[in-house]
Amino acid sequence: MEERELILIRYGEIALKGKNIGVFQKKLVKNIKKALVDVPNIHVLDHHGRVYVEHDHEDYEKIVERVTKVFGIVSISPAHRTENKVEAICTAALEEAKRLIHEEGIRTFKIETRRANKGFPMTSPEISRHVGGYVNQKLDELSVDVHTPDAVIHIEIRNSAYIFSKRIQAIGGMPYGSAGKGMLLLSGGIDSPVAGYSMARRGLELEAVHFHSYPFTSERAAEKVVDLAIKMTVYTTNLRIYKVNILEIQRAIQEFCPQEEMTILSRCFMMKIAEKLANESGCKALVTGENMGQVASQTLESITVTNAMTEMPIFRPLIAYDKSEIVEKAQEIDTFETSILPFEDCCTVFLPERVVTKPRLEKIQESLDLLDVEGLIDRAIENRELVVVSRGKQIENPRY
Ligand code: ATP
Ligand code: MG
Repeated sequence: MEERELILIRYGEIALKGKNIGVFQKKLVKNIKKALVDVPNIHVLDHHGRVYVEHDHEDYEKIVERVTKVFGIVSISPAHRTENKVEAICTAALEEAKRLIHEEGIRTFKIETRRANKGFPMTSPEISRHVGGYVNQKLDELSVDVHTPDAVIHIEIRNSAYIFSKRIQAIGGMPYGSAGKGMLLLSGGIDSPVAGYSMARRGLELEAVHFHSYPFTSERAAEKVVDLAIKMTVYTTNLRIYKVNILEIQRAIQEFCPQEEMTILSRCFMMKIAEKLANESGCKALVTGENMGQVASQTLESITVTNAMTEMPIFRPLIAYDKSEIVEKAQEIDTFETSILPFEDCCTVFLPERVVTKPRLEKIQESLDLLDVEGLIDRAIENRELVVVSRGKQIENPRY
């Protein structure tokens, strides 16, 4: 094998998957390749429970930036691969030690060796001693400290030898798509992008639905949601967003139902429409940014009502978080600044003076019975628009 720079990938929980490990690992490798699709001359290797990315020197920064955001990876290490000869290993370890002195100012080090390939003629302690002695003797400014070294240089002897020291934290979670697909109810607010991110990080592939009341809600409000979805492609690569106009529904509610039920009834329709779209596109769950007690529509009674509207499981990953924690996460995933842009939401346009905060399911069901629920839902879905975003931009004229 030729000498190359590479990045060693560590995955956490996937390793606990027993018999299914292969499926998860394949998905991870596929997602890494997807994340690096525009980087030339890379090679993603997948053997003996280890994943490596071979790359050219000049692409290092870009690859680290991308790979540390691939769900399922817990940490990575830039590594050097050499042939299984002790001289070559010594040379690579010396290079690594020099880098550690210059970049990290280390004064002491030790070598740790793992020998998976028992055909190698020295034992692990022998390799560590030999290579450590060599590096120590070449570099006056460095000394060996086996108890509390500033840095550990690792050597792994497999089909080739791998030398590395640095460990860079990655995003964790499970490979995107390894848990099936869910439909995210994406508003323009702070919470729903974070909710989507949280489920995506656990392996749930996402599609999204956004409800608006155009022309009562503006074109800019809808663009803001697309911008949020674009931000999310850092983690999901692609995202399909269904834009559904619920103006006719809200008008019907206004005409036939008690005004204080406007918000909860709108929510009921959102759930039903989201479920229908989910069924059409192979999604097996809904995801919302609901949070206990945050606003009137998020009391236990309101959640009980909206919950009863669908048969699908509804994931509410933010239900128990404080607002400040959600904001922090939104900043971390870079959706916050877009979320706080002041555009109207379909729920605020028709906000009545008084809202029910403790709706009863039977009462809400009676109000729904006053409406042509199926017809309203079917027309809203029929008139939906699809927006597809991919790798930081919107795709023009996507195919359904
Ligand atoms: P967010 O910050 O996500 O807007 P919120 O704190 O404003 O949430 P609500 O307005 O009560 O809370 O909405 C709760 C959840 O219902 C949202 O997180 C989202 O999943 C869904 N939702 C609300 N409005 C819409 C909408 N216009 N389109 C799609 N989903 C919506
Ligand atoms: Mg909102």
